[in-house]
Amino acid sequence: MIVVMSHKATEDEIRGVIEKLEENGFKIHLSKGVERTIIGAIGDKTRLGCMNLETLPGVEDIVPILKPYKLASREMKEEGTVIRIGDLEIGGDTLQVMAGPCAVESREQLFAAAEVVKKAGARILRGGAFKPRTSPYSFQGLGEEGLKLLAETREKYGLFIVTEVMDNATLPIVAEYADIVQIGTRNMQNFQLLKELGRIDRPVLLKRGMSATIEEWLMAAEYILASGNPNVILCERGIRSFETYTRNTLDLSAVPIVKNVSHLPVIVDPSHGLGKWKYVIPMSRAAVAAGADGLLVEVHPNPSEALCDGAQSLTPGNFEIMMNEVGRIAEAVGRRV
Ligand code: PEP
Ligand code: MN
Repeated sequence: MIVVMSHKATEDEIRGVIEKLEENGFKIHLSKGVERTIIGAIGDKTRLGCMNLETLPGVEDIVPILKPYKLASREMKEEGTVIRIGDLEIGGDTLQVMAGPCAVESREQLFAAAEVVKKAGARILRGGAFKPRTSPYSFQGLGEEGLKLLAETREKYGLFIVTEVMDNATLPIVAEYADIVQIGTRNMQNFQLLKELGRIDRPVLLKRGMSATIEEWLMAAEYILASGNPNVILCERGIRSFETYTRNTLDLSAVPIVKNVSHLPVIVDPSHGLGKWKYVIPMSRAAVAAGADGLLVEVHPNPSEALCDGAQSLTPGNFEIMMNEVGRIAEAVGRRV
Protein backbone atom coordinates (compact mmCIF):
# COMPACT_ATOMS: atom_id res chain seq x y z
CA MET A 1 0.00 0.00 0.00
CA ILE A 2 1.02 3.59 -0.50
CA VAL A 3 0.40 6.38 1.96
CA VAL A 4 0.35 9.67 0.11
CA MET A 5 1.26 12.55 2.39
CA SER A 6 -0.17 16.03 1.89
CA HIS A 7 2.26 18.46 0.27
CA LYS A 8 2.02 20.46 3.50
CA ALA A 9 2.96 17.48 5.71
CA THR A 10 5.77 18.23 8.16
CA GLU A 11 8.78 16.00 8.87
CA ASP A 12 7.23 15.12 12.24
CA GLU A 13 3.99 14.06 10.59
CA ILE A 14 5.85 11.87 8.10
CA ARG A 15 7.83 10.31 10.93
CA GLY A 16 4.63 9.72 12.89
CA VAL A 17 3.09 7.73 10.04
CA ILE A 18 6.25 5.71 9.53
CA GLU A 19 6.44 4.85 13.22
CA LYS A 20 2.83 3.71 13.28
CA LEU A 21 3.39 1.49 10.24
CA GLU A 22 6.58 0.01 11.67
CA GLU A 23 4.89 -0.72 15.00
CA ASN A 24 2.42 -2.80 13.00
CA GLY A 25 5.15 -4.76 11.27
CA PHE A 26 5.20 -2.93 7.93
CA LYS A 27 8.41 -2.48 5.94
CA ILE A 28 8.83 1.11 4.76
CA HIS A 29 10.11 2.50 1.48
CA LEU A 30 10.14 6.25 1.55
CA SER A 31 10.00 8.24 -1.66
CA LYS A 32 10.42 12.00 -1.34
CA GLY A 33 9.33 13.59 -4.60
CA VAL A 34 9.41 17.26 -5.51
CA GLU A 35 5.65 17.57 -5.08
CA ARG A 36 4.93 15.21 -2.21
CA THR A 37 6.20 12.40 -0.04
CA ILE A 38 4.97 8.91 -0.62
CA ILE A 39 5.37 6.18 1.99
CA GLY A 40 5.38 2.69 0.54
CA ALA A 41 4.39 0.10 3.13
CA ILE A 42 4.61 -3.63 2.70
CA GLY A 43 3.08 -5.91 5.27
CA ASP A 44 -0.06 -7.54 6.57
CA LYS A 45 -3.09 -5.79 5.02
CA THR A 46 -5.41 -7.10 7.71
CA ARG A 47 -3.70 -4.78 10.22
CA LEU A 48 -4.94 -1.75 8.29
CA GLY A 49 -8.41 -1.76 9.84
CA CYS A 50 -7.11 -1.18 13.37
CA MET A 51 -4.51 1.42 12.46
CA ASN A 52 -6.79 4.26 11.34
CA LEU A 53 -4.00 5.68 9.23
CA GLU A 54 -6.28 8.14 7.48
CA THR A 55 -6.82 9.97 10.76
CA LEU A 56 -3.13 10.71 11.26
CA PRO A 57 -2.07 14.31 10.58
CA GLY A 58 -0.54 14.93 7.15
CA VAL A 59 -2.07 11.85 5.49
CA GLU A 60 -3.83 12.67 2.24
CA ASP A 61 -4.64 9.30 0.74
CA ILE A 62 -4.10 5.56 1.13
CA VAL A 63 -3.83 3.62 -2.09
CA PRO A 64 -3.50 -0.17 -2.33
CA ILE A 65 -0.98 -1.59 -4.83
CA LEU A 66 -2.88 -4.30 -6.63
CA LYS A 67 0.03 -5.74 -8.59
CA PRO A 68 1.97 -8.61 -7.02
CA TYR A 69 5.21 -6.69 -7.43
CA LYS A 70 5.18 -3.70 -5.12
CA LEU A 71 8.63 -2.10 -4.91
CA ALA A 72 9.15 -2.52 -8.65
CA SER A 73 5.84 -0.88 -9.52
CA ARG A 74 5.29 2.59 -10.92
CA GLU A 75 2.64 3.11 -8.27
CA MET A 76 5.31 2.88 -5.61
CA LYS A 77 7.64 5.28 -7.40
CA GLU A 78 6.30 7.60 -10.04
CA GLU A 79 9.56 8.90 -11.46
CA GLY A 80 11.89 6.54 -13.33
CA THR A 81 14.83 5.16 -11.38
CA VAL A 82 18.19 6.50 -12.45
CA ILE A 83 21.08 4.30 -11.40
CA ARG A 84 24.36 6.12 -10.84
CA ILE A 85 27.79 4.53 -11.02
CA GLY A 86 30.44 7.22 -10.76
CA ASP A 87 29.46 9.79 -13.40
CA LEU A 88 27.47 7.21 -15.36
CA GLU A 89 23.67 7.27 -15.33
CA ILE A 90 21.46 4.38 -16.39
CA GLY A 91 17.81 5.29 -16.86
CA GLY A 92 18.50 9.01 -17.40
CA ASP A 93 18.57 11.03 -20.62
CA THR A 94 21.69 9.33 -21.92
CA LEU A 95 21.33 5.99 -23.65
CA GLN A 96 23.89 3.53 -22.26
CA VAL A 97 25.49 0.93 -24.48
CA MET A 98 27.15 -2.12 -22.90
CA ALA A 99 29.28 -3.91 -25.45
CA GLY A 100 32.01 -6.51 -25.69
CA PRO A 101 32.62 -10.17 -26.31
CA CYS A 102 30.38 -12.95 -25.08
CA ALA A 103 33.29 -14.39 -23.12
CA VAL A 104 36.61 -13.04 -21.95
CA GLU A 105 39.10 -15.17 -23.89
CA SER A 106 42.48 -13.48 -23.42
CA ARG A 107 44.08 -10.16 -22.54
CA GLU A 108 44.74 -9.46 -26.17
CA GLN A 109 41.13 -10.16 -27.20
CA LEU A 110 39.68 -8.09 -24.36
CA PHE A 111 41.97 -5.11 -24.93
CA ALA A 112 41.10 -5.14 -28.64
CA ALA A 113 37.37 -5.25 -27.83
CA ALA A 114 37.71 -2.47 -25.24
CA GLU A 115 39.49 -0.29 -27.75
CA VAL A 116 36.60 -0.66 -30.21
CA VAL A 117 33.94 -0.12 -27.54
CA LYS A 118 35.62 3.03 -26.28
CA LYS A 119 36.38 4.47 -29.69
CA ALA A 120 32.76 4.10 -30.78
CA GLY A 121 31.60 6.01 -27.70
CA ALA A 122 30.19 3.29 -25.41
CA ARG A 123 31.13 3.39 -21.74
CA ILE A 124 30.42 -0.09 -20.43
CA LEU A 125 32.39 -3.19 -21.38
CA ARG A 126 30.69 -6.58 -21.18
CA GLY A 127 32.39 -9.97 -21.07
CA GLY A 128 31.62 -13.23 -19.31
CA ALA A 129 34.16 -14.89 -17.04
CA PHE A 130 31.74 -17.53 -15.76
CA LYS A 131 29.77 -18.77 -18.77
CA PRO A 132 26.48 -20.68 -18.59
CA ARG A 133 26.92 -23.01 -21.58
CA THR A 134 24.35 -25.50 -22.82
CA SER A 135 27.05 -28.12 -23.35
CA PRO A 136 29.52 -29.11 -20.62
CA TYR A 137 32.11 -29.57 -23.40
CA SER A 138 31.92 -25.94 -24.55
CA PHE A 139 34.28 -23.23 -23.28
CA GLN A 140 33.18 -22.45 -19.72
CA GLY A 141 34.98 -19.12 -19.32
CA LEU A 142 38.24 -18.16 -17.63
CA GLY A 143 36.71 -17.81 -14.15
CA GLU A 144 38.59 -15.56 -11.75
CA GLU A 145 41.36 -15.05 -14.28
CA GLY A 146 38.72 -13.52 -16.58
CA LEU A 147 37.56 -11.19 -13.81
CA LYS A 148 41.12 -10.02 -13.30
CA LEU A 149 41.47 -9.29 -17.00
CA LEU A 150 38.22 -7.30 -16.90
CA ALA A 151 39.53 -5.25 -13.97
CA GLU A 152 42.82 -4.64 -15.75
CA THR A 153 40.95 -3.53 -18.88
CA ARG A 154 38.76 -1.18 -16.85
CA GLU A 155 41.88 0.55 -15.52
CA LYS A 156 43.54 0.80 -18.91
CA TYR A 157 40.52 2.04 -20.88
CA GLY A 158 38.43 3.79 -18.23
CA LEU A 159 35.34 1.71 -18.99
CA PHE A 160 32.78 0.28 -16.57
CA ILE A 161 32.45 -3.50 -16.38
CA VAL A 162 29.37 -5.74 -16.53
CA THR A 163 29.85 -9.48 -16.08
CA GLU A 164 27.67 -12.46 -15.19
CA VAL A 165 27.44 -14.27 -11.90
CA MET A 166 26.04 -17.81 -11.96
CA ASP A 167 25.80 -18.81 -8.31
CA ASN A 168 25.91 -17.73 -4.69
CA ALA A 169 29.36 -19.20 -4.16
CA THR A 170 31.07 -16.91 -6.69
CA LEU A 171 28.94 -13.81 -6.02
CA PRO A 172 31.38 -12.16 -3.58
CA ILE A 173 34.26 -12.39 -6.02
CA VAL A 174 32.22 -11.31 -9.07
CA ALA A 175 30.80 -8.35 -7.11
CA GLU A 176 34.32 -7.39 -6.06
CA TYR A 177 35.49 -7.00 -9.68
CA ALA A 178 32.30 -5.91 -11.49
CA ASP A 179 30.65 -2.50 -11.64
CA ILE A 180 27.36 -4.16 -12.65
CA VAL A 181 26.53 -7.78 -11.87
CA GLN A 182 24.62 -9.62 -14.60
CA ILE A 183 22.06 -12.35 -13.94
CA GLY A 184 21.59 -14.47 -17.01
CA THR A 185 18.33 -15.71 -18.45
CA ARG A 186 18.86 -19.18 -16.95
CA ASN A 187 19.14 -17.80 -13.43
CA MET A 188 16.27 -15.33 -13.46
CA GLN A 189 14.33 -17.46 -11.03
CA ASN A 190 17.23 -18.63 -8.90
CA PHE A 191 15.59 -17.21 -5.83
CA GLN A 192 18.47 -17.93 -3.46
CA LEU A 193 20.78 -15.98 -5.73
CA LEU A 194 18.25 -13.16 -6.12
CA LYS A 195 17.98 -12.82 -2.35
CA GLU A 196 21.74 -12.63 -2.01
CA LEU A 197 21.91 -9.94 -4.71
CA GLY A 198 19.84 -7.76 -2.41
CA ARG A 199 22.78 -7.67 -0.04
CA ILE A 200 25.49 -6.46 -2.43
CA ASP A 201 26.25 -2.83 -3.21
CA ARG A 202 26.42 -3.26 -6.98
CA PRO A 203 23.66 -2.63 -9.52
CA VAL A 204 22.17 -5.81 -10.95
CA LEU A 205 21.41 -6.36 -14.62
CA LEU A 206 18.52 -8.82 -14.54
CA LYS A 207 17.94 -10.59 -17.83
CA ARG A 208 14.48 -11.88 -18.64
CA GLY A 209 14.12 -15.62 -18.32
CA MET A 210 13.72 -17.20 -21.74
CA SER A 211 10.31 -18.57 -20.72
CA ALA A 212 9.34 -15.88 -18.28
CA THR A 213 6.28 -13.68 -18.52
CA ILE A 214 6.76 -9.98 -17.86
CA GLU A 215 5.14 -10.45 -14.48
CA GLU A 216 7.52 -13.28 -13.49
CA TRP A 217 10.43 -11.10 -14.57
CA LEU A 218 9.21 -8.20 -12.45
CA MET A 219 8.68 -10.57 -9.52
CA ALA A 220 12.33 -11.64 -9.87
CA ALA A 221 13.30 -7.95 -9.70
CA GLU A 222 11.05 -7.65 -6.65
CA TYR A 223 13.15 -10.31 -4.85
CA ILE A 224 16.28 -8.19 -5.29
CA LEU A 225 14.54 -4.96 -4.29
CA ALA A 226 12.84 -6.59 -1.30
CA SER A 227 16.15 -7.91 0.00
CA GLY A 228 17.65 -4.44 0.00
CA ASN A 229 19.20 -3.55 -3.36
CA PRO A 230 17.25 -0.79 -5.16
CA ASN A 231 19.50 -0.77 -8.24
CA VAL A 232 18.04 -3.22 -10.73
CA ILE A 233 18.28 -2.83 -14.51
CA LEU A 234 15.96 -5.06 -16.53
CA CYS A 235 17.20 -6.58 -19.78
CA GLU A 236 14.96 -8.01 -22.49
CA ARG A 237 16.99 -10.68 -24.31
CA GLY A 238 14.41 -12.65 -26.25
CA ILE A 239 12.03 -15.41 -25.29
CA ARG A 240 11.38 -18.89 -26.67
CA SER A 241 8.73 -19.12 -29.36
CA PHE A 242 7.82 -21.38 -32.29
CA GLU A 243 9.98 -19.29 -34.62
CA THR A 244 13.14 -20.97 -35.89
CA TYR A 245 14.70 -18.27 -38.07
CA THR A 246 16.06 -16.57 -34.99
CA ARG A 247 17.66 -17.94 -31.79
CA ASN A 248 14.91 -16.35 -29.69
CA THR A 249 12.05 -13.96 -30.31
CA LEU A 250 13.02 -10.49 -29.15
CA ASP A 251 9.97 -9.15 -27.34
CA LEU A 252 10.31 -5.42 -27.91
CA SER A 253 6.77 -4.89 -26.71
CA ALA A 254 8.15 -5.63 -23.25
CA VAL A 255 9.98 -2.28 -23.31
CA PRO A 256 7.00 0.12 -23.30
CA ILE A 257 5.00 -2.29 -21.13
CA VAL A 258 7.65 -2.52 -18.44
CA LYS A 259 8.30 1.22 -18.60
CA ASN A 260 4.59 1.73 -18.04
CA VAL A 261 4.17 -0.56 -15.04
CA SER A 262 7.61 -0.18 -13.45
CA HIS A 263 10.06 2.62 -12.65
CA LEU A 264 13.13 0.44 -13.28
CA PRO A 265 15.42 1.09 -16.27
CA VAL A 266 15.05 -1.34 -19.18
CA ILE A 267 17.70 -2.25 -21.72
CA VAL A 268 17.60 -4.61 -24.71
CA ASP A 269 20.03 -7.32 -25.84
CA PRO A 270 19.43 -7.92 -29.56
CA SER A 271 22.49 -10.21 -29.81
CA HIS A 272 20.98 -13.04 -27.76
CA GLY A 273 17.52 -11.94 -28.85
CA LEU A 274 18.11 -12.89 -32.48
CA GLY A 275 21.38 -14.82 -32.45
CA LYS A 276 22.48 -13.43 -35.82
CA TRP A 277 24.75 -10.42 -36.18
CA LYS A 278 22.93 -9.23 -39.29
CA TYR A 279 19.82 -8.33 -37.31
CA VAL A 280 21.54 -6.70 -34.36
CA ILE A 281 21.72 -3.22 -35.90
CA PRO A 282 18.08 -2.93 -37.06
CA MET A 283 16.78 -4.32 -33.76
CA SER A 284 19.06 -1.97 -31.79
CA ARG A 285 17.49 0.93 -33.65
CA ALA A 286 14.03 -0.45 -32.94
CA ALA A 287 14.81 -0.98 -29.24
CA VAL A 288 15.89 2.63 -28.83
CA ALA A 289 12.84 3.83 -30.73
CA ALA A 290 10.66 1.74 -28.39
CA GLY A 291 12.09 3.59 -25.39
CA ALA A 292 14.90 1.35 -24.12
CA ASP A 293 17.35 2.99 -21.72
CA GLY A 294 20.26 1.16 -23.24
CA LEU A 295 21.57 -1.79 -25.20
CA LEU A 296 23.70 -4.84 -24.49
CA VAL A 297 25.48 -6.08 -27.59
CA GLU A 298 28.18 -8.59 -28.35
CA VAL A 299 31.21 -7.25 -30.19
CA HIS A 300 34.29 -9.31 -30.97
CA PRO A 301 37.54 -8.17 -32.61
CA ASN A 302 37.29 -11.24 -34.81
CA PRO A 303 33.87 -12.96 -34.60
CA SER A 304 34.91 -15.94 -36.73
CA GLU A 305 37.47 -16.89 -34.06
CA ALA A 306 35.17 -16.33 -31.06
CA LEU A 307 35.00 -19.14 -28.48
CA CYS A 308 31.38 -18.28 -27.80
CA ASP A 309 28.51 -16.66 -29.75
CA GLY A 310 30.58 -15.56 -32.76
CA ALA A 311 27.56 -15.75 -35.08
CA GLN A 312 25.78 -13.00 -33.22
CA SER A 313 28.81 -10.80 -32.54
CA LEU A 314 29.35 -7.55 -34.40
CA THR A 315 32.69 -6.79 -36.00
CA PRO A 316 34.39 -3.56 -34.88
CA GLY A 317 33.30 -1.86 -38.11
CA ASN A 318 29.67 -2.88 -37.70
CA PHE A 319 29.66 -1.79 -34.08
CA GLU A 320 30.75 1.67 -35.15
CA ILE A 321 27.92 1.76 -37.70
CA MET A 322 25.49 0.62 -35.01
CA MET A 323 26.56 3.38 -32.63
CA ASN A 324 26.09 6.02 -35.31
CA GLU A 325 22.68 4.79 -36.37
CA VAL A 326 21.45 4.30 -32.83
CA GLY A 327 22.68 7.79 -31.98
CA ARG A 328 20.40 9.26 -34.62
CA ILE A 329 17.38 7.33 -33.36
CA ALA A 330 18.21 8.33 -29.78
CA GLU A 331 18.18 11.99 -30.77
CA ALA A 332 14.86 11.55 -32.55
CA VAL A 333 13.30 10.24 -29.33
CA GLY A 334 14.83 12.91 -27.14
CA ARG A 335 17.84 11.07 -25.77
CA ARG A 336 21.60 11.43 -25.99
CA VAL A 337 24.24 8.79 -26.60
C1 PEP B 1 25.36 -13.42 -22.10
O1 PEP B 1 25.00 -12.24 -21.98
O2 PEP B 1 26.46 -13.76 -22.52
C2 PEP B 1 24.38 -14.50 -21.83
C3 PEP B 1 24.77 -15.74 -21.54
O3 PEP B 1 23.12 -14.08 -21.96
P1 PEP B 1 21.72 -14.83 -21.66
O4 PEP B 1 21.73 -15.12 -20.20
O5 PEP B 1 20.71 -13.80 -22.07
O6 PEP B 1 21.68 -16.06 -22.53
MN1 MN C 1 26.67 -14.64 -25.44
